[in-house]
Amino acid sequence: QALGQGMACPSSFRQRSQQRPGKAPPAAGGSRADAKGKVRAPGLVQYRLGAPEVGELPALEDAYLSILKGVGENPATPKAMQFLTKGYQETIEDILNDAIFDEDHNEMVIVKDIDMFSLCEHHLVPFFGKVHIGYLPTKKVVGLSKLARIVEIFSRRLQVQERLTRQIALAITEALKPAGVAVIVEASHMCMVMRGVQKMNSRTVTSTMLGVLREDPKTRGEFLTLIKN
Ligand SMILES: [Zn+2]
Repeated sequence: QALGQGMACPSSFRQRSQQRPGKAPPAAGGSRADAKGKVRAPGLVQYRLGAPEVGELPALEDAYLSILKGVGENPATPKAMQFLTKGYQETIEDILNDAIFDEDHNEMVIVKDIDMFSLCEHHLVPFFGKVHIGYLPTKKVVGLSKLARIVEIFSRRLQVQERLTRQIALAITEALKPAGVAVIVEASHMCMVMRGVQKMNSRTVTSTMLGVLREDPKTRGEFLTLIKN
């Protein structure tokens, strides 16, 4: 799915910015618009008590830099952001290397209610919830805790819920070559929740079904029943 079109994030920051052209604040004495139409005040940064206007983003940036430096953080390598996106540094091969076993088990394996925390790539705000995974092994099984690690690798990145769901399913398919895989993600998106009381309890549900879990309604039904109980 193309950037900016995620179902889970109905209006991205970029789209919203484009909907409000020319709404720069009135130029204060000596201010000038840069190439993007943002107004930059020369010299000292101005702080104002009300909501920031678009043209004050550079001032906000400076303010955040001051905070980061003030708490002893090196703004060049912000640790919190690194932690929240540490999934970029890890690969599925790293964690599954010695965790795949040959096993004569051909009944469905389900791990449900795996906690998931991620950041939406449109707004850089959290979305979080539960992931349910089921697969029907052919010969290979994986250590159960590794399924949670797979979720972590893909969720600790800037994400779109639909893509996260699919990436988890594809990673399991690639590693285990199972007869089928099902992944369901239920999440609350702070970018939706924070924009109105009516959306407080909204949850977004996405699913990816592959192999027999897609093709055979009976197998899919078994999975759906088991994750409900
Ligand atoms: Zn969002």
